[in-house]
Amino acid sequence: MNRVIILGGGISGLSTAWYLKKFSQRPLNISVIEKKGRVGGWIETYREEDLLFELGPRGFRPNGKGKETLNLVKDLGLQDELIYANARAKKRYLLHQGKLHSVPNGLFSLLTSSMFRPFIKTLFRERKIPQIPIDDETIADFFRRRFSQEILDLIIDPLVTGIFGGDPEKLSLSSCFPLLRDYELKQGSVMKGLFANNKLNPMTKASLCSFRKGMERLPIALSQKLQGLGVNIYFHSPVESIECKKEKVIVHLHDKSLETDILVSALPPKSLAVCYPSMADQLLEIESVTVAAVSIAYQGQQTEIRGYGFLVPSRENETILGVTFDSDVFPDQGRADLSRYTVMIGGHQVKKSKRAELVECALRQLDRHLGITMKPHATHVAIAREALPQYTLGARKRLESIENNLPPQFFLSGNGFYGLSINDCIFHGKELATKIVRLM
Ligand SMILES: Cc1cc2nc3c(=O)[nH]c(=O)nc-3n(C[C@H](O)[C@H](O)[C@H](O)COP(=O)(O)OP(=O)(O)OC[C@H]3O[C@@H](n4cnc5c(N)ncnc54)[C@H](O)[C@@H]3O)c2cc1C
Repeated sequence: MNRVIILGGGISGLSTAWYLKKFSQRPLNISVIEKKGRVGGWIETYREEDLLFELGPRGFRPNGKGKETLNLVKDLGLQDELIYANARAKKRYLLHQGKLHSVPNGLFSLLTSSMFRPFIKTLFRERKIPQIPIDDETIADFFRRRFSQEILDLIIDPLVTGIFGGDPEKLSLSSCFPLLRDYELKQGSVMKGLFANNKLNPMTKASLCSFRKGMERLPIALSQKLQGLGVNIYFHSPVESIECKKEKVIVHLHDKSLETDILVSALPPKSLAVCYPSMADQLLEIESVTVAAVSIAYQGQQTEIRGYGFLVPSRENETILGVTFDSDVFPDQGRADLSRYTVMIGGHQVKKSKRAELVECALRQLDRHLGITMKPHATHVAIAREALPQYTLGARKRLESIENNLPPQFFLSGNGFYGLSINDCIFHGKELATKIVRLM
């Protein structure tokens, strides 16, 4: 048993391959099968004449699971290319009643913030709300139960949209924010847990890392290193079907079939459902949402409002989810004479608009909220179709059931199952590789 095939050359598939190579004591024959002509999946950086736009993720957090990502960066020899968010990016904004408000980044600014002051009592009262041992509940129900509808609408809704692109009324608390559930059960209160763990403000606390030449450096460096170690990456090779035999698996591509002892699927759930129809019903229950990233660059600095960006609560009834001020966050990426922004637009709007209309919509929003009226130097629209899987109520049980129904030589990885962030994907790749190496 020394053959492993990994389906999908996104960060999940590549990192699983990396840790398998790193941990295995004996030679493994590893292949990665990727349908496109490039690796990285949603991690993609557009670069032209020194202009840099991130089409997918802007960065990763260096704390928590991010420590593993930093270790990987070191393993790949990319430390010198790593950059940290500028201190200016600590300042974040929230759109409230049509105006941008700065989000407090400490207790003092919380107490003095006109927007947040009315909620202080509710925040502190939460310590007295009794625990309820509910198996799973939506993020919205949890925050209504322990805090208030107002806090849900003002703080949690934009945070959830910003991270998951989803609806707190549908998403599962224990899958999306497992720590908060733990704080309630183990420390008796979310606020106590946040205080004790110094995580009071998730919107401003953690910094962000990227690479001077953009996030795509990570999967590119990883794939080059893997190829150097003898891992075979099949490009332009969409998997058509998967056939599980007693002790082996056969992967059918359009022009050949490959046999393996161990199969890891790091495909999005819908792609896997097509290749593996016997699990299609369960896999298709995992919904995912579409977002568009409209990147815009202007000559020079066009506004006094500086920081990380702003989020937009749903009740503002705007067409956008939020805006990041990319050149404020990572000024060392790309040309210094340009200011860069990304306007995130949700799936509903994307469905009914053409690309040019999405650009128009983004420009209108930058005018309305940041006062930028200048003609842009460059724009780019990236539509990430069904890119963000939704961990809806019951997601954990659904995953357990999918895992239990897979043949013993068939493993899952990827953002469809084990967390959305790059850190989650890499962390799970490491855990999975450890498990497989033990079995072999
Ligand atoms: C717009 C956007 C912004 C984001 N921002 C952040 C951020 O700032 N920070 C952060 O941590 N995370 C962010 N994320 C999330 C993160 O980028 C993704 O969750 C992560 O990159 C997913 O990696 P993956 O390998 O699991 O999946 P994918 O990237 O989806 O990779 C799956 C791979 O499988 C391939 N494939 C699909 N079907 C087949 C087939 N039939 N045969 C062979 N190959 C196939 C695909 O081509 C792809 O390469 C963002 C995501 C998006 C879309």
